[in-house]
Amino acid sequence: MRSRARVVVIGAGIMGLATAYNLAKRGVTDVLVVDRGYLCGGASGRNGGGVRAQFSTETNIGLMRESIAICRDFAAEMRINVWFRQGGYLFLARTPDKARALEESVALQNRCGLSTRLLEPWEAQRIVPELSIEGVTRASFNPDDGVVFPWPFVWGYAKAARDLGVEVATFTEVVGFETRGNRITAVKLRPTTLGEVNRHEEVRPAGEVFSVACDEVILCAGAWSPQVAAMVNVALPNHPHRHEICSTEPLKPWLGPLVADLTDGLYFSQSMRGEIVGGVSVDPVPEGIDQQSSSAFLAKYARSLVRAVPRMATVKVLRQWAGCYDLTPDSNPLVGRIAEPENLVLACGFMGHGFMMAPVMGRLLAEHVITQQTSELFARWSLDRYRTGRLLHESMIIG
Ligand SMILES: Cc1cc2nc3c(=O)[nH]c(=O)nc-3n(C[C@H](O)[C@H](O)[C@H](O)COP(=O)(O)OP(=O)(O)OC[C@H]3O[C@@H](n4cnc5c(N)ncnc54)[C@H](O)[C@@H]3O)c2cc1C
Repeated sequence: MRSRARVVVIGAGIMGLATAYNLAKRGVTDVLVVDRGYLCGGASGRNGGGVRAQFSTETNIGLMRESIAICRDFAAEMRINVWFRQGGYLFLARTPDKARALEESVALQNRCGLSTRLLEPWEAQRIVPELSIEGVTRASFNPDDGVVFPWPFVWGYAKAARDLGVEVATFTEVVGFETRGNRITAVKLRPTTLGEVNRHEEVRPAGEVFSVACDEVILCAGAWSPQVAAMVNVALPNHPHRHEICSTEPLKPWLGPLVADLTDGLYFSQSMRGEIVGGVSVDPVPEGIDQQSSSAFLAKYARSLVRAVPRMATVKVLRQWAGCYDLTPDSNPLVGRIAEPENLVLACGFMGHGFMMAPVMGRLLAEHVITQQTSELFARWSLDRYRTGRLLHESMIIG
C-alpha cells in the first residue's frame, strides 16, 4: 500500500466509493479508500435499495431528483447492471398526523416539479390490487421513484474508481490519527481478518499498525463514524440504530411500487428477481453497532406485511439480515469540513436514505474537497448546526 495519499477516504461503502470515484473523475486520483471489512459489509450491502424523491424538504427533493437521474444512467456509465426499476413508491398513512404530513409533503413535491399524486385509499388499491386498504386514510404515489440492487452499485463505483487510479484497500482499519496543530497529518491503519470483522472468532489484533500520510481525510464510515471521529477528539451527534430486513422466495411479478407505511415503518418491494424484500421498525433495539437478526423482527414484519397484503401469508421467507441506520437528531446528514481538525471532511448521518443520496452526494463532496468552497447546502448540513440550533427536520423517514 502507498505510504502517502492526497486524500484518504475512511469507509468503502457507497458514500466513500461514490466520493472517491467523483474525485478521480475530476482528476484527483491520488486517493486511498480504506475499509475495516469487505465491500458491501456495511449498510450499503444490507439495505433495501429504495430510491425516491418523495421527501418533505425542498433540499432532499432536489437532491434526489438529481440522484434518480444519475441512477438512470449508472448502468451505461459504469457498464454494470444495477437492476434499476422505476415502479414508483406508494406511501400509506393510517393516522391523522401522518396523513397531514403526507399532504404537506405532496404539496411541496408538486411545487418542486415532482409528479407525485395524493391518493384516496381506493386509488392506492388500483395501483396494488392485492393491497388491503383497511385503516388506510391517505396515500401518495410518485411513478419516478424506484429500486436498485445495491451490491452491483457498490461494485460499479469500486471498479470505476480503481480504473481511474484510486486504491481501495479492504480489511484495513483506521485505528487512530497523527496530528500537527489543527491538521491530521496521517491515518494509522491496521490489517483485519474476516473472522474479526464478522465477530465469528475472538477479536484480536490481526497485524502491525502502520501510517499513511495524507492532506485530506473524508469520513464515510456510516454508523461507525462517531467512533472513528472520537479517535481525533471530535464528538458527533449521530448514532447507530439496528434495522432488520428480509427477503422471500421469488414470486411472479405482481408488485409495481415499493410500498411504505408511514405509521408502523413497514416497507416492501419486489426485486427484479421476484423476491419480496422488506422490513419494519422494531423497538427497542440493542445499543451501538449490532448487525444480528432477531425473531421479534420476523414476527412483527409477518404481522404487518400480512395486514397490508393478506395473500403474503403463505409465502416463505428465505433470508433475514440486519444493518445499521446512521441516525442524526434532525434526520439530516452531517457533511463538509469542520473547524478542528480543519482537513477532516464529514460525510455521514445519512439515516435510512444514504444509499439513494450517494450518487449526488459523491459529486458534491468531490467538488467540496477540490474547490475548498462551502456551498449553501453544506453550510446547512454542517456539524455546526447543532451549536447554532439551526436544524431543519425531515419527516418522510421510513422505519
Ligand atoms: C436494513 C436497511 C435498509 C435500508 N434501506 C435503504 C433504502 O432502501 N434506500 C437507501 O437509500 N438507504 C437505505 N438504507 C440506508 C443506507 O444503506 C445507508 O444510508 C448507506 O448505505 C450508508 O452508506 P455509507 O457508505 O455512508 O455507510 P456504510 O455502507 O455503512 O459504509 C461504512 C463503511 O465504513 C467502514 N468502517 C467502519 N469503521 C471503520 C474504520 N475504523 N476503518 C475503516 N473502515 C471503517 C465499514 O466497514 C463500512 O463498510 C438502509 C439501511 C439499512 C440498514
